[in-house]
Amino acid sequence: MTIIDGHVHSPYCPHGTGAAMEEYVNEAERKGIDVLVFTEHAPLPEGFTDPVPEKDSAMRPEDVRAYLEEGARLRREYAGRVDVRCGFEVDYIEGFEEETRRFLEEHREAAAHSILSVHFIQAGGSWFCLDYSADAFAEKAEEVGVEHLYDAYGKAMEKAAEMPFGEVNPPVLGHINLIHKFRRRIKPVADPVNWAGILEKAAASGYVLDFNHAGLRKPDYAETYPEPWMVEEAHRLGLNMQTGSDAHSPEDVGSGFI
Ligand SMILES: [Zn+2]
Ligand SMILES: [Zn+2]
Repeated sequence: MTIIDGHVHSPYCPHGTGAAMEEYVNEAERKGIDVLVFTEHAPLPEGFTDPVPEKDSAMRPEDVRAYLEEGARLRREYAGRVDVRCGFEVDYIEGFEEETRRFLEEHREAAAHSILSVHFIQAGGSWFCLDYSADAFAEKAEEVGVEHLYDAYGKAMEKAAEMPFGEVNPPVLGHINLIHKFRRRIKPVADPVNWAGILEKAAASGYVLDFNHAGLRKPDYAETYPEPWMVEEAHRLGLNMQTGSDAHSPEDVGSGFI
């Protein structure tokens, strides 16, 4: 069986650790991982202002070239030992589809190894990064209602599940229930998101799901994304899943499934 870590970050992530990409590859080889896919946060679309205080959600546009070149070098260097691939974790941001599509078209090869995720939703008249911190989430929920945050996320994820970028759309849908990240601390009385509908759309689109194990490392969630019942439903729908650690440091490569 091929062991894959399909969701790994790099030093080009400004909120990561700065460890070299090669350290991630070495860790993968040490742990017996066959396929390692770098999926750095793609630069945010032009005209979109990163809503987090440190403005560090994504890589800088000027780093894209060096990132892809290092990925290609490691792919050659480790051929036959670790199958290294290089893509992006691309944000689905409503209203910025044109800019996002242009980026994917410019990087078709990397797009084929990429993940489409939702981290930003509109709430209370401004953009909000939903997985930034429990405190920020609680504060925003206080302001607009936690149901509203869930609902806005669910609607954005439904659109992402329809593969809005056609032939250049990333083949993998990222941590589909990321909105649950802080639910042990705060959650709506009833979950308003149509999860079954999202899974059905993802299946109809032919997506692979990011079976993201970072959630196990988050104290306010402590499950995989998707959570177990969704995994069962995904199997029932014939949706393929791809294991991923969402490592932001080399020691987390394979974390949760190796
Ligand atoms: Zn990240
Ligand atoms: Zn993510």
